[in-house]
Parts: sequence; structure tokens; C-alpha cells
Amino acid sequence: MSIRLSEVLCPTCNRIIKESEYVLLDFVYTLSHQECYDSYEDLLIAAGTYKEVAKEFPFFYEDLLN
Ligand SMILES: [Zn+2]
Repeated sequence: MSIRLSEVLCPTCNRIIKESEYVLLDFVYTLSHQECYDSYEDLLIAAGTYKEVAKEFPFFYEDLLN
């Protein structure tokens, strides 16, 4: 089964986040690279690689939206 993650741009550096990159997810479901995130850590709800975070928050899987 092939799973395709949605393309998400990091709001800070405007690069597409790759599934192996370490990311942080905040309470309004904004995904940023760990090194780009500059807000309060209290606001975070998930951390890990994009692939790991997407497992917990299935709306990142494009195919489920179709
Ligand atoms: Zn970034």
C-alpha cells in the first residue's frame, strides 16, 4: 500500500516539508521544521518526523481526502 502525505510548506522557510524531516505541530495544526519553529513550546501538540506526526493526525494523508 502506498501512502502519500500532503505537501506542506514550512511557514518560516517556505520549503516543502519532507517526510523524514523533524517537525513540530502546534495547536492550530501548523507544521514547521523543528529548527524553524520560533514560538512557545507550550503550544505544541506533536513532534517527530513528518511521517511519524502524520500517523497520529491522519488528515495529512492526501488520499483520505479524496
Ligand atoms: Zn522550515
